[in-house]
Amino acid sequence: MTSPTPADVREAVVVDLRSDTLTQPSEAMRSAMATAEVGDDVYGEDPTVGALEAHVAGLFGHEAALFVPSGTMGNQICLALLVPPGQEVLCDGEAHILTNENGAAAALFGITTRTFTSADAHLDVDAVGSALRPAGFGTLSTAAIAVEQTHNRSGGSVHPLEALRGVRDIAAAAGVAMHCDGARIWNAHIASGTSLAEYGALFDTLSVCLSKGLGAPVGSLVVSSAERVARARVIRKRLGGGMRQAGVLAAAGLYALGHHLERLAEDHRRARQLGAQLGHHSPVESNILRLNISDYGWTGPDLAAAARARGVRIGVAGPAQVRLVTHLDVDDDGVALAAEVLADLLQR
Ligand SMILES: *Cc1c(COP(=O)(O)O)cnc(C)c1O
Repeated sequence: MTSPTPADVREAVVVDLRSDTLTQPSEAMRSAMATAEVGDDVYGEDPTVGALEAHVAGLFGHEAALFVPSGTMGNQICLALLVPPGQEVLCDGEAHILTNENGAAAALFGITTRTFTSADAHLDVDAVGSALRPAGFGTLSTAAIAVEQTHNRSGGSVHPLEALRGVRDIAAAAGVAMHCDGARIWNAHIASGTSLAEYGALFDTLSVCLSKGLGAPVGSLVVSSAERVARARVIRKRLGGGMRQAGVLAAAGLYALGHHLERLAEDHRRARQLGAQLGHHSPVESNILRLNISDYGWTGPDLAAAARARGVRIGVAGPAQVRLVTHLDVDDDGVALAAEVLADLLQR
């Protein structure tokens, strides 16, 4: 038997930068799941789910939280709580609730949508203010403003606290509620140093994901007042999201919050490093890098296929755009390999 050459070893390495949802639960996380105390959560009898809900509510300084199967369900439950049928939610034109949730707010709850543009990838307070339709306008009125933190489709950008406060003030003055799609609010917290409670204070409802950078296999939480969360429980059941011995999943979430929150800084460092090595024009603010490759003569799908053949998987985000996301299962060697392969391909 011949020993593998460095080239063989390199062939075998696969770095998957398509998404931070691709992480595998670690041995320690699986062991926390295996030993979790559980009960029927539809009966309200799962102690581990209860512990997760209380912990997450506390982190954001809210009264209550509800464990739900996905971020999409979390967002949609929040919209249903805040926006009556026939009224609108105001959100960014590239918001996940609009572009990636298959029209759920309209299809399920009769909610319409108005959009604003975040010109430089960050919240533009004036744009939000002029898009808002106050009640009594005589036509459709805005019932809620939804903000995504971090903002996925603009490349993981982190809205500054000042801008969020500006939008909050506009909403408060108009009597309009505020929702946060906080799928990656953990990344925003680590990147900005703003506490989760400071973020929590800005919003009436939040939906936060355990299955992105935190590395849990399944689950999100709706965070809000006790009264809203009681109503959220009813809507969750209506949507088929009532879960039984869900403590096995909640245990993974508790483990992730205890062990994988602070380390998000490493993902951010690696994403910045990738951005710098690939000549990305603007600073990478969290764990997502979107590369425009039209100038390099590549299409997104072709570049992704060429990189894959060399052990690096990247996401296709458009005809001439690719997406690279750092996460728990990508280490320094993986980032170095990805940078080398992509820099090489983009030179051609
Ligand atoms: C991933 C994500 C969600 C939720 O997605 P699910 O796959 O339903 O858990 C919501 N908002 C944003 C911005 C996301 O990236």
